[in-house]
Amino acid sequence: MVRTSDHLDNQSVIFGIGLRNSIRVHTQSMGVSRVLVLTTPGRSNLGLEMSEKLGAGAAGIFSRAAMHTPVDITEEALENLRSVDADCVLSVGGGSTIGLGKALALRTGIRQIVLPTTYAGSECTPILGQTENGVKTTLTHPRVRPDIVIYDPELVATLPIPVTVTSALNAIAHAVEGLYAIDRTQSASELAIQGVSAFRSALPRVIEAPDDLATREDTQRGAWACGTVLGEVGMALHHKLCHTLGGSFDLPHAETHAIILPHAVAFNSVAVPQLLAPVSDIFGVDDPAIGLWEFARSLGAPLALRDLGLRETDLDRATRLATRLPYPNPRAVNPDGIRGLLQRAWRGDAPQP
Ligand code: NAD
Repeated sequence: MVRTSDHLDNQSVIFGIGLRNSIRVHTQSMGVSRVLVLTTPGRSNLGLEMSEKLGAGAAGIFSRAAMHTPVDITEEALENLRSVDADCVLSVGGGSTIGLGKALALRTGIRQIVLPTTYAGSECTPILGQTENGVKTTLTHPRVRPDIVIYDPELVATLPIPVTVTSALNAIAHAVEGLYAIDRTQSASELAIQGVSAFRSALPRVIEAPDDLATREDTQRGAWACGTVLGEVGMALHHKLCHTLGGSFDLPHAETHAIILPHAVAFNSVAVPQLLAPVSDIFGVDDPAIGLWEFARSLGAPLALRDLGLRETDLDRATRLATRLPYPNPRAVNPDGIRGLLQRAWRGDAPQP
């Protein structure tokens, strides 16, 4: 059942339990008739399920989407898309699958429908990161933003709790950095507060009852709000650190975001305490970094970079890479400060300014 519908620019966003079952309503409203379904290898069964629901409208399934959108896989998918003469892609998955759909849209202008299965928020943005020869580059293009996003809570109800928690903290990071973004706006900040509040309220309930679909829908509304902030304003130190650790040390995306966020907030909170005050309010504490850290701890999130396989001897290089071309940040980024931040995040210590 369709509960709400928001139309932002040219994107339609709908939320509701079981909405994926009426996928054909959406392909018909779009006027497309040959849909290529995209998934990661691990979610190919879901791709098959969606292909069956599309019936004669299914043109094929491509189940090789991978983290960081490798260009060679995009080229393989492009060949597949042309050979089946598809006029739409249906991306069923998290940021990796959605990234592949975006990469195909950039190259062909093909229409995109997305069924998100994580909270990473890529479905809300005109941003695409792609990897070629080990180098990740990011671009922004209006064509990349999906046309229709369908949030079906049943699709996130299958997320194991550890992934639920880290993916949600990844989403929260978009919102928190949106609060102090150099190009922040009042509407993006309101959305950021809405997104963090939704997760603050829903995540402990998800842990109690992972299959409760109404609560899962609350988390998806949080993901939409946080992802929309990511698409509207620029990110800062936290995202730079995570991009460095993911890109140069191959650390896992959502877990890295989960660990770094309280530390990046501690670093920045001394420069912009008033902009981060809403985060303190949401967690009912004086210090937004401690509020986020305690929240992550209470949810069983990973707290130490060393547990993700980063070596202590990597910290100097990570500091150099993260401080070389910093993103605009409310507090000047200095190597000593960042080295200390990374040391604490590596050990799993409490955040400090
Ligand atoms: P992901 O898409 O790589 O998914 C992680 C793993 O979880 C995959 O193996 C996937 O098959 C599995 N999975 C996904 N949903 C599941 C479910 N409901 N149940 C069980 N397993 C499930 O991870 P992600 O964190 O969603 O996305 C990370 C990628 O997205 C990165 O490459 C990141 O750079 C990108 N990203 C891009 C943007 C953007 O705006 N361009 C925004 C956020 C993330």
